[in-house]
Amino acid sequence: MGSMVQDHHSSLQPQWLQTGTLWSKIRLQTQHALDCGALQPIPTTYDWVEQNGIRFVVRILANLQRKVAAKESQPKNFNPFLPYDPNLFVTDLSPTHLVLLNKFNVMDHHLLIVTREFESQDDCLTTQDFQSLALGLSEVDGLAFYNGGPKAGASQPHKHIQIVPLPFVPDGSRLPIESLLLENTVSAQAGTNPRLPFLHLITRFEKLDFTQPKTLSMYLLEAYRHLMISLNLMSIDSTKCSQGAYNLLMTREWMCIVPRSQEGFGDIQINALGFAGALLVRNPEQLAYLQAVGPLTVLQNVGCPA
Ligand code: AMP
Repeated sequence: MGSMVQDHHSSLQPQWLQTGTLWSKIRLQTQHALDCGALQPIPTTYDWVEQNGIRFVVRILANLQRKVAAKESQPKNFNPFLPYDPNLFVTDLSPTHLVLLNKFNVMDHHLLIVTREFESQDDCLTTQDFQSLALGLSEVDGLAFYNGGPKAGASQPHKHIQIVPLPFVPDGSRLPIESLLLENTVSAQAGTNPRLPFLHLITRFEKLDFTQPKTLSMYLLEAYRHLMISLNLMSIDSTKCSQGAYNLLMTREWMCIVPRSQEGFGDIQINALGFAGALLVRNPEQLAYLQAVGPLTVLQNVGCPA
């Protein structure tokens, strides 16, 4: 198994991903990481919770002990992505980014696209980020997401974009509230849905051309900047810092930005997946609380006023 693992600190230059190879690398490395115990999936059950006729999938964690224990045994400023665990390394994507398996995955094949050098999760996304993201999405039909800052659900300060393959729910549902997100938007124009009680902005793409990664990454960066500037998360003359926490969600068909006011409501934590209609609770008590207050109310409270 050792031969599968590449060493980035050797003299070899990081390679671009060879087209059509990502899935086989993911499968091989997942098996290896499970066999050696590096990958520690967190088992869940799931249920549906509805509010205003809108259905959310809620995953209920069976056991968080290993993740909690791992966190408690880590030194204070531990960075799990630099250096990363070679047993979780999937592949180089580009000279600036690589792919890791999410160590504590709730969904199968949950990928992290991390920067090779340290960059802050509070920094805005760059052309290189979108180039890597587009490469990842061209190989894996998934939901890409970014938790921009701790208030948006980020637990690690080293820049990491995430991809979970679709469909999202074990019953085959692609993404629980995708059709609702897209209800009011037409191609290439930013739109919102007034049925969603939190500030958000969505762009639906014309068909993306994954064969032209450079042009595509410029297009995606422009779409992102347009949404961020429209939501006052970035100033017009800035290519750098964002001015607040936000979640980015993106598929091959659309991109959505949701500004954030807080990390959680009650003791339910929300990251980008919440705005795709997928929530996570730690125990049956939290599920009961969520059923009582309603998922839309939770999202309204962790988002910003629409
Ligand atoms: P977030 O919590 O959204 O910032 O995403 C960071 C992810 O990194 C979490 O989902 C963790 O499960 C995952 N993680 C934590 N430690 C490691 C590690 N050593 N290697 C890979 N993934 C990790």
